[in-house]
Amino acid sequence: MAKKAAGRIVKAAPGKGAKTVKTVKTVSAPARAKKGAAPARVKAAAPARKAAPKGRAKYVYFFGGGKADGDRTMKDLLGGKGSGLAEMTNAGLPVPPGFTITTAACNLWYANHRKLTPEIEDEMLASVRRLEKLAGAEFGSSTNPLLVSVRSGAKFSMPGMMDTILNLGLNDVAVEGLKARTRNGRFAYDSYRRFIQMYGSVVLEIPKEKFEHEFDAVKHAHGAKSDTDLGEDGLRETVERYKALVRRQKGKPFPQEAVAQLRGARDAVFRSWNNPRARAYRRIYDIPDHIGTAVNVQLMVFGNMGDTSATGVGFTRNPATGAREFFGEFLTNAQGEDVVAGIRTPQPIAELEKVLPHAYRELRQITARLERHYRDVQDFEFTIQDEKLYMLQTRNGKRTGYAAVVIATDMVAERLITPQEALLQVDPSALSQLLAPVFDPKEWKKLPVTTRGLPASPGAASGQVVFTADDAVEWVGQGRKVLLVRKETVPDDIHGMEVAQGVLTATGGMTSHAAVVGRQMGKPSVVGAGEIAVDDKARRFTVNGVVVSEGDWVSFDGLTGEVKVGQVATNPSEILQVVGGRMAKADSDIYQRFEKLLSWADRQRRLKIRANADQADQAELAYAFGARGIGLCRTEHMFFGEGRIEKVQRMILATTEVQRRAALAELLPLQRGDFYGVFRHMHGEPVTIRTIDPPLHEFLPRREDLMVEIARLELTNGATAAIEEKKALLARVEQLHEFNPMLGHRGVRLGITYPEITEMQVRAIFEAACQLAKEGVKVVPEVMIPLVGHVRELRDQKAIVDRVAAEVMKELKVKVKYLVGTMIEVPRGAVTADEIAAEAQFFSFGTNDLTQMTFGFSRDDIGKFLGAYQDRKILERDPFQSIDTVGVGALVEMGCVKGRKTRPDLKLGVCGEHGGDPASIHFFHQVGLDYVSCSPYRVPVARLAAAHAALQVKVGD
Ligand code: ADP
Ligand code: MG
Ligand code: MG
Repeated sequence: MAKKAAGRIVKAAPGKGAKTVKTVKTVSAPARAKKGAAPARVKAAAPARKAAPKGRAKYVYFFGGGKADGDRTMKDLLGGKGSGLAEMTNAGLPVPPGFTITTAACNLWYANHRKLTPEIEDEMLASVRRLEKLAGAEFGSSTNPLLVSVRSGAKFSMPGMMDTILNLGLNDVAVEGLKARTRNGRFAYDSYRRFIQMYGSVVLEIPKEKFEHEFDAVKHAHGAKSDTDLGEDGLRETVERYKALVRRQKGKPFPQEAVAQLRGARDAVFRSWNNPRARAYRRIYDIPDHIGTAVNVQLMVFGNMGDTSATGVGFTRNPATGAREFFGEFLTNAQGEDVVAGIRTPQPIAELEKVLPHAYRELRQITARLERHYRDVQDFEFTIQDEKLYMLQTRNGKRTGYAAVVIATDMVAERLITPQEALLQVDPSALSQLLAPVFDPKEWKKLPVTTRGLPASPGAASGQVVFTADDAVEWVGQGRKVLLVRKETVPDDIHGMEVAQGVLTATGGMTSHAAVVGRQMGKPSVVGAGEIAVDDKARRFTVNGVVVSEGDWVSFDGLTGEVKVGQVATNPSEILQVVGGRMAKADSDIYQRFEKLLSWADRQRRLKIRANADQADQAELAYAFGARGIGLCRTEHMFFGEGRIEKVQRMILATTEVQRRAALAELLPLQRGDFYGVFRHMHGEPVTIRTIDPPLHEFLPRREDLMVEIARLELTNGATAAIEEKKALLARVEQLHEFNPMLGHRGVRLGITYPEITEMQVRAIFEAACQLAKEGVKVVPEVMIPLVGHVRELRDQKAIVDRVAAEVMKELKVKVKYLVGTMIEVPRGAVTADEIAAEAQFFSFGTNDLTQMTFGFSRDDIGKFLGAYQDRKILERDPFQSIDTVGVGALVEMGCVKGRKTRPDLKLGVCGEHGGDPASIHFFHQVGLDYVSCSPYRVPVARLAAAHAALQVKVGD
């Protein structure tokens, strides 16, 4: 590699994560908030080197001959693949030349009735001519034909989701040219048949099976087992059959003209951006639909030219475990997609050293350098043509959450990256994978190993076997746990993989699409379990004489690749064991790394992290995970505990205040005990306790159930007293019936109509707090009134809180500091936040209700139409999972601004589900909240996401 290139590499290195979001306004469009720059910014970022004629935008970027128009900063425009190819070219690496048609062209194509403009077509043709010159070959030539690949490549890599076409440019004449040039007729016809097959299925949309059917017939006739057993004759015959197939299917011959082929392939790649699997993938990974894909047209190099040729893919470190080892696979005499498609199980990359030592050594050098350059694990693709190595792709490798933590901490220890960069390497959501259960080792040992496969993605998986992705979705919908078992997974299976406990395949290597996608999802996966024979039609598989049918239980360990028939109990993950005190920190390497990474995060973040916890054990867990304070303690959850619901029902059934107070008196000591536990485990950190929120009927039996019960008692001559009791209950249930409980008698409205409930709860809070204060434990209760829309509601309840608190403190002769505040979850509350802040010392945004009431979507019913909304792109994401920054977020922002105007030291937090969602956390950071509160298990995710937000990195970048 050239010295000049090395200099470039050093200079370019610190560019990572430099994107900034300056104001809240720039994040207000949800798609952009999450994924990337606005188109305007894309253009600004693209230097107009080698620009098309002045004043016109450039849509085609060339790379080759040691120089490229683009570079690594241009992912938005060139896609990940295109920018990587440009960057590698600039670094002097052996990259076949070519050009990238931009994502802007793709968007224009869609906007322009699926056509490019004549100017862009000309720009493309000029690039073809330039490529011909550089390669010394010509499209369609009978002596030296130019062959190219046409490859998709969006900003975010979507492995296998879009289509690629190889060997484009071949036709009946060019194939002879290729034969003449290479003196290898077998190779020429193998390339041609691959091309017709790919072009036929991807561009002409003829089902793949039809081609396979023809190919199998030829193989059969020639007594060939695998495609490599066929000679030139067999392949010529295949080509003839393929061409006939195309003519039958399309009523037209296979297109012979190379530029027409190129246009067809390019448009098919644009089209593939919207194929169902690509859309499903984007939905899962929150990749916006509007960014489009680039198309890379690149000179072909051939891994199928014989035994000194090969193709492969690899990673600079193990993406499943994070181990620092060269990792990957290759096949000799094959073309790239043979490896990634998982059709043949390839060889481990270490063996390449024996087969093609020179190329192997160069590959090691280049990839090590790429890792240093990009300061991250690289996932690369290469082809060796007659012992000469070519790099075809490099990108930051997808990895499991486990591997991400290992790699990030290792790279800091190796002084390759800074702790800040390490934080940015780890996707916050992926941290929850480290909390997933593992098999109980004793139980696991009880079963014999039935077979083994490749350990593609770690984790324990146990489930009932299903054989199709659709079945997986259906069974899981019925509440079952499934394992998806496939001969090979194809990218179309992604929706099934998402819901399954794990994925098991018979073929495919560690870098097959199933493995890559499995790792990224943190989905336990074992692939290439070659002893398994899957019979999809009969819905069963056989392995070493054992027959496993649909619905049978199978378990596997994605870390070792062992597969067993049967169900196996799981244990909490190592990290949970340490957190729960069942394992020593010193014994857990992964815990130490996890803690180290999060300690770096704590140094970066501004947002404080609290947890939503109702019970002492949850509070303890949350604290151990790093929560410093409780943002939401839902008192009503305590009412569902053992032996409590009857007391609660007695309170509800009371017809007079005296009766009600008697029932409440019984609840008081129980609540006091709960609060005592929660306070104690927070070690002096603030605890926000919300007074009762749900409508009372939620504590009573369902009307229908009661009616059935009464009928049953009457039929079986049950005791009259019992019948009367049930009837009274039924009468009260009917009385409490509401047409719209979500907007009914709940929240602060209960406290206003039954002030004695508020009194009891406040008394319990302060008795517990005072007792702890006496024991020398610091406590800071924050009493929170839910569902306030009018300042007078809060004033009413605050008076009760202050009065009872004073009474208790006087009785117990101890003072504790406390705050009274409110949830902002009714739109009117946000709009009048300035008035409310006069009474409230803190706000906690209840973004679940606020979303519900702002959209008018019932949280429990949105499932009925959300899918349709997403399909039609009315909503990109579920607003209950990730905050709608434009609408609901505007109310949050308004609440903050107005609230702080009245009371500058107003404490602001959020306690809805959004408090654990990285994209939402980013938004909350921007609007200046003091803290987010989430479920205990999300606390690590929130700590890291808050650090990312502080580092001003957008989620997903
Ligand atoms: P994907 O994004 O699905 O990985 P790619 O565009 O990377 O799709 O192409 C799939 C495979 O085709 C790659 O693994 C690569 O090895 C092979 N390939 C692509 N372009 C070329 C080329 N110019 N020469 C040789 N092989 C190629
Ligand atoms: Mg690729
Ligand atoms: Mg609420």
